[in-house]
Amino acid sequence: MPRLRWKSKITYQELEPLLDATKKSIAAIQSAIEERHVFVPYTTGGAEKAHTTVHWPPADPQRYATLEQRHSEMVALTASTAPPEIWHVDQSGHVVANNGYEITGANYFTDLPHCGYCTVMLWVLGLPLGQPTKGRYNQAVNLGYSIPINVQDNVDVLIRLLNSNQGGNPALVVLKRAVNAFISTPSSDWVLAIEGKFVTDDAVLDEQPGGVLILNWADAAAHRVTVDIQNFGTNSLLVTLWKVIYQALYDNVD
Ligand SMILES: [Zn+2]
Repeated sequence: MPRLRWKSKITYQELEPLLDATKKSIAAIQSAIEERHVFVPYTTGGAEKAHTTVHWPPADPQRYATLEQRHSEMVALTASTAPPEIWHVDQSGHVVANNGYEITGANYFTDLPHCGYCTVMLWVLGLPLGQPTKGRYNQAVNLGYSIPINVQDNVDVLIRLLNSNQGGNPALVVLKRAVNAFISTPSSDWVLAIEGKFVTDDAVLDEQPGGVLILNWADAAAHRVTVDIQNFGTNSLLVTLWKVIYQALYDNVD
């Protein structure tokens, strides 16, 4: 059995199908949000000036400002899920309170409209939305939106962003197909091992299949890939897939 072969460099043409599919996924997520919320206009500079307040008794209200490209919503989430944490990101990629109480707009509040990136992220994470927008924040062009590491590493958040916020096996198949773009070994010759399952291009198996190469998600996520597109460059596959999502967000906001 030969070894799995990664591409040395991925071109725009090779990544375009994944970029297009992810754009459709983000648009579908925005449509789902719009069924429940009214999008408001976004003011340029909003993210940079915004503050998010977390009020989680018995602690006094904690007020968080935007730090460079990490918006106040994500700064507040980082702080609230870091020791001594009050919330955590669960296995399905949703933010839940450690004491089981619901997180509402009364205890996680942002004083200005959310940018279009935060709007999608908060929705996918199951956090309350204040004023959602389809707005593009000032520095969005460099794909440098910043999220907590425990969100970045949560594969269920990642695959739902790639799959119209629908998780489970269909999203794992979408992830397998996404990874195909980076690998020159024929896609039918390898399967992705993740969460105790084995993912092909159209199915999720409980048992390890014979006669194919196995790629563990942890190894794949850490593998460094080079994408010949501006603002992509050489990064881990995980960071690169997040850049695909940020590019899709960029293309779905204005
Ligand atoms: Zn934002």
